[in-house]
Amino acid sequence: ATPTALLVGTGRGAQLGVLIKGPEVLESTRRVDTVVLDKTGTVTEGRMTLLAVRTADGVAEDEVLRLAGALENASEHPIARAVAQAAAERTGPPPTPERFDNVPGLGVRGQVEGHAVLVGRERLLTAAGLALPPELAGALTEAAERGRTAVVVAWDGAARGVLEVADAIKPSSAEAIVRLRKLGLTPMLLTGDNERVAASVARAVGIEADQVIAEVLPTEKAAVIDRLKAEGRVVAMVGDGVNDAAALATADLGLAMGTGTDVAIEAADLTLVSGDLRAAGDAIRLSRRTLATIR
Ligand code: ADP
Ligand code: MG
Repeated sequence: ATPTALLVGTGRGAQLGVLIKGPEVLESTRRVDTVVLDKTGTVTEGRMTLLAVRTADGVAEDEVLRLAGALENASEHPIARAVAQAAAERTGPPPTPERFDNVPGLGVRGQVEGHAVLVGRERLLTAAGLALPPELAGALTEAAERGRTAVVVAWDGAARGVLEVADAIKPSSAEAIVRLRKLGLTPMLLTGDNERVAASVARAVGIEADQVIAEVLPTEKAAVIDRLKAEGRVVAMVGDGVNDAAALATADLGLAMGTGTDVAIEAADLTLVSGDLRAAGDAIRLSRRTLATIR
């Protein structure tokens, strides 16, 4: 009876838009009590748009966009796509960087037309020994208060601009969180983005303020999952990015967005085919029910 019930479970999973790697996966879903959600691309669309360019005194907006766009053109990050697209629209075809380096969870750096350029989190600049002039520090704070992500653009040893981007929350995310709660699960938000942006997204989808873990580097995401497991929780992780792969593999149950990267899908136990977060609860409920049938 066991193999048949499992087969039914996996078949029904396909109908719900959930792909299950193997029947053994169902077993790990039984005791899950915590669901950790990546923010960008999982709770939000992961398609950002550039909303504002702020500059340091005496710097032209288009120059900030052009140099940032040239570097971001070489990156696949959602922020990079937004910046590169806006730069191309406003300043024409970008120059090719002489050097390009991706710094995961922090930003990008390289050389464009002889200038040493950095684009990313404030931490990327401070690590390079650069400080923010007050007008840019103010721009960062204002953006964060509005729940928008902002990145700093620097070249030749000085911070010159701030780019404000925003990502839409998926219409189905709040409903997905409600469903997880109905199953008795605790939803948490895990992100590399800053505290205030994370808090504003959490508030919008119904995740408790004390269940938000922000400013986590990609290399630290798996360690966060390990810590939650060490507290005695049984953890499901939902993610889409290259950044999430190690955390998906570390979790008791890894769920990848079908709209996400291949690396995430390979690391996960389940794939939510359409990228609709509501399928996460469906998948967990289905697995529990299938196991109940077997026992
Ligand atoms: P998330 O966990 O939400 O998917 P990431 O770990 O990918 O976020 O990125 C965390 C932060 O690092 C971003 O919010 C941004 O500030 C910065 N960052 C990462 N990549 C880039 C990039 N290509 N350009 C600018 N900033 C970046
Ligand atoms: Mg992501």
